Amino acid sequence: MDDLIKQAAGDLAAACNVVALTGAGISTESGIPPFRGKGGLWEKFDPMEIAHIDAFMKDPARVWNLLVKEMKAIVDTARPNDGHKGLAKLEQMGKLKTVITQNIDGLHQAAGNTDVIEFHGNFAWQRCMDCSQKYETRQVDISQIPPRCRCGGILRPDAVFFGEMIPQDAMWRSKQAASDCDLMLVVGTSAVVQPAALMPLFAKETGAKIIEINPEETPLTVEVSDYLIKGRAGEVMNQILQELKPAI
Ligand code: NAD
Ligand code: ZN
Repeated sequence: MDDLIKQAAGDLAAACNVVALTGAGISTESGIPPFRGKGGLWEKFDPMEIAHIDAFMKDPARVWNLLVKEMKAIVDTARPNDGHKGLAKLEQMGKLKTVITQNIDGLHQAAGNTDVIEFHGNFAWQRCMDCSQKYETRQVDISQIPPRCRCGGILRPDAVFFGEMIPQDAMWRSKQAASDCDLMLVVGTSAVVQPAALMPLFAKETGAKIIEINPEETPLTVEVSDYLIKGRAGEVMNQILQELKPAI
């Protein structure tokens, strides 16, 4: 592990255009449970069932009660951890240009990253299903479920459910950032949700180095990643930054 930390610091020191692809794992140290992996929401519910747009359309109250209410309570109070802060420091050092995140929790922006592509939208806003009026999630009154718009329409997260399209702009910009980078950090994603998991392939195709940070192997580990640093995002980022400082 120590050797891999040194290698990552060396690779980052040599890189000019770093992009990070992040997933739910980077936010677990902020108290937000992932969908997969140990302690994931997946162990409690079938994600494809409850986080699917069909489930929401069929029974919005059920999805609000089982998923959205819980996410709201957690995301309203979550703070960035050392994983997010480490990526913000890499941007301050002029290394990291863009974060492509599958997360909807807004923690990369809270940590200070300025170019964050939210591949699956974000949870900061709820949107009326009838008139599209948006409401800040923090201010939505959930004493009645599902919460409703002034017009009477049902509110839904302004994020992407399974079964929905990726916002076109996020898709296009992510592909571009992945193809342009010379090093991609893949942090805390199980790399099974498509098309987000294609981004490391686009990066690899154009010659970028791929470094994974995750306590567990993923489908990328053997075929796509140059190496996997097995560990928690916050701890690994701190160690890399410690090594990197004297190197640049
Ligand atoms: P995932 O839940 O499928 O996988 C989480 C991954 O993170 C696993 O590979 C796990 O081994 C790893 N992990 C766990 N703890 C870690 C840590 N401390 N450091 C580094 N890695 C760690 O996540 P996904 O690939 O992002 O896919 C899930 C989908 O669910 C995404 O599309 C996302 O939009 C959504 N989601 C978002 C949040 C959030 O916004 N924080 C939370 C849950 C789910
Ligand atoms: Zn409305």
